[in-house]
Amino acid sequence: MKFDKNIRNFIYGELKAPISNSHIDNYDPSTGTVYSKIPDSDERDVGRAVKAAQLAFPHWSSLGVERRFRVLLRIADIVEQHLEEFALAESTDTGKPLSLAKSVDIPRAHANIRFFATSILHFSSESHQMEKEAINFTLRQPLGVVGCISPWNLPLYLFTWKIAPALAAGNTIVAKPSELTPMTAYLLSLACIEAGLPPGVLNIVHGYGNKTGQAIVEHDDIKAISFTGGTNTGSTIARIAAPRFKKLSLELGGKNPNIIFADCDFDKMISTTVRSSFANQGQICLCGSRIFVESQLYNVFKEEFVKRVKKLNIGNPLATKTDQGAVVSRSHMEKVLSYIELAKQEGGIVLCGGERVIMKGKQKDGYYIAPTVIEGLPHDCRTNQEEIFGPVVTIMPFNKEEEVLKYANSTVYGLSATVWTKDIDRAHRMAEKLEAGIIWVNTWMTRDLRTPFGGVKNSGVGREGGLEALRFFTEAKNVCIRY
Ligand code: NDP
Repeated sequence: MKFDKNIRNFIYGELKAPISNSHIDNYDPSTGTVYSKIPDSDERDVGRAVKAAQLAFPHWSSLGVERRFRVLLRIADIVEQHLEEFALAESTDTGKPLSLAKSVDIPRAHANIRFFATSILHFSSESHQMEKEAINFTLRQPLGVVGCISPWNLPLYLFTWKIAPALAAGNTIVAKPSELTPMTAYLLSLACIEAGLPPGVLNIVHGYGNKTGQAIVEHDDIKAISFTGGTNTGSTIARIAAPRFKKLSLELGGKNPNIIFADCDFDKMISTTVRSSFANQGQICLCGSRIFVESQLYNVFKEEFVKRVKKLNIGNPLATKTDQGAVVSRSHMEKVLSYIELAKQEGGIVLCGGERVIMKGKQKDGYYIAPTVIEGLPHDCRTNQEEIFGPVVTIMPFNKEEEVLKYANSTVYGLSATVWTKDIDRAHRMAEKLEAGIIWVNTWMTRDLRTPFGGVKNSGVGREGGLEALRFFTEAKNVCIRY
């Protein structure tokens, strides 16, 4: 399984150039150079993919869970066997350290497929006995053709998080990865061919979001859209999908608080906080970008945190000692740098980082930003309210629990929150009052795939993960039998 310089769409089991025959440049962010071409697909390619998915649906949906489980397991095994190639592709497309792609992205991708392959074997539905000689039961049926659209930050990880439950539940799919990071989805299409996935069951159409992605959302024969990406895009998708009465799952942006009380386990907190701030160059929707520290710990925290952040190695993502690779694109780098400028204008003090890093040699045009820590900003300024999605965090002191709750809940977002404390009562109080879909206490990114995953407020609608995902990708039909 090798990188192919010319990525092709995967439609009805075949690799195809786009009908327009036009292509988009695919950049390696670590060097700022073009290294491959991506199909610039349009609504005609999406139309073909939908037809292929419709053709495949009757067979796939009636195949039975046991046989779907077997095919999905084969795909997971192939991804695992080709870990090195997948990880190299992910690192080259995103700029993330190869070590991260090898230890997190790709292992989680095949774990996702295995998890939903096996979940469907145990998926059951409710039955309600009535007093007056009748029984109700719920039939859970696949929806038909569904659309899955994923972002660039965790490309294969989030792509499989959607397609695996959709396929396990018996749907057929038209999917689009981000045009910035298409290579692992392309390699996945090769894995599907090798695994013997029947033609048309999964179709992958590459291209721009506002063209290919939008054509998927607009297509009347696509019954549901599972989308992960930015809040503005989510709102556009909701506007298009609502009058067509499509089922929608939206996993959107975040501005997550990381709340540190003075009684926490300092060593565990500080090493985790470096990770939760800067893993994947801060481009994880769950990163804690607003760090609130109880006043009596603030100075000690600041000194140790900045010291550790300064030690992070920035550089070639393929080098084993690299902690911080490149951010995903030139325009994203410019956006992140513009937020650092905004923070300064708002009165923020940059304690470390704060600028683009120019490397030597092959990486000289890559998109590197020094991990940045800023203090001195109020909780309600733009820097602390808007999603930056890069290696930038702010630190702020607080005195009281109620005060920090107010700060933490003050944004339009509500994806995740982290709390560091040894006081179990306080941990419970905070978990109840924080406005977020995921609360971590004394940890970060500890993920159990059975749990509901998603955000509140502008961070999303609906939940992924475990049974929630299987419920989303099925229609519940109540059958009432009188006897
Ligand atoms: P975008 O919203 O820009 O894009 C996400 C996907 O949607 C991409 O495949 C994109 O294509 C596509 N797209 C863009 N416009 C449209 C449209 N009009 N119709 C249909 N599809 C469209 O997000 P990013 O890729 O920039 O990802 C970063 C964002 O994702 C951040 O806000 C982050 O917080 C969020 N995110 C949320 C997660 C969660 O679980 N809640 C997890 C991970 C990220 P293309 O890229 O080709 O333009």
